[in-house]
Amino acid sequence: MVVANWKMNNSPEQSRQLCSSILSKMSATDKEVILAPSHLCLSTVVESTGDSIIKVAAQNCHQELSGAFTGEVSASMLADLGLDYVILGHSERRLYNAEDNDLLAKKVISVLSQGLKVIYCCGETLEQRSSGAHLTRITKQLTEGLFHLPVKDLKNIVIGYEPIWAVGTGVTATSIQAQEMHAHIRSVVSNKYGDVIANQISILYGGSCTPSNAKELFVQKDVDGGLIGGASLNADDFIAIINA
Ligand code: PEP
Repeated sequence: MVVANWKMNNSPEQSRQLCSSILSKMSATDKEVILAPSHLCLSTVVESTGDSIIKVAAQNCHQELSGAFTGEVSASMLADLGLDYVILGHSERRLYNAEDNDLLAKKVISVLSQGLKVIYCCGETLEQRSSGAHLTRITKQLTEGLFHLPVKDLKNIVIGYEPIWAVGTGVTATSIQAQEMHAHIRSVVSNKYGDVIANQISILYGGSCTPSNAKELFVQKDVDGGLIGGASLNADDFIAIINA
């Protein structure tokens, strides 16, 4: 699975062009490819991807389904647009919008209630990694944000591991660091939901993933794909990452 997180980039017209460029360059693949444009560009991207194999995700949504929440977008609105996924808990939203695990736990319920799937992001700061607190930090994010779900919902959850020190910095986790954390995440999921669920869940790596380092990361046993920021804004780079 490869997810393009376009963040706050691309106008509707630029999104349309990038979509058609990706579609024209993409060869048949058995991988799941997902584009996550800004809310403003979602309908353009849904329309541009049409009945191709590309799926569409939102980058966030509100925890309530409707009401007096000026400037917000609900999961029911996103479901109406025909989306497949919503990314929740990206480190930029945790940092700039003060989203914590308790709020994310509510958003997860709201998204699933509308038949959408969740890409739930977790990640540690450099300070937490340096002090050896990285594994417990991720366990906490998973426990508080996801583990209120009944087992039946886990098939609609994808986990994105995004070390904060690697997101948008040009510094990538080594394949050893990524594999260690992905194996940890799988074991934490297994402790809560059992081996079958833990082996089925997709765990994506995100953080300065590029065509030149993607393969080394993706061959790791517990790395099931990537969440791609900067490199997904260029069709050739994104295609190269899919092919990796
Ligand atoms: C992201 O924001 O999800 C991300 C992984 O960004 P980048 O690839 O630019 O580090």
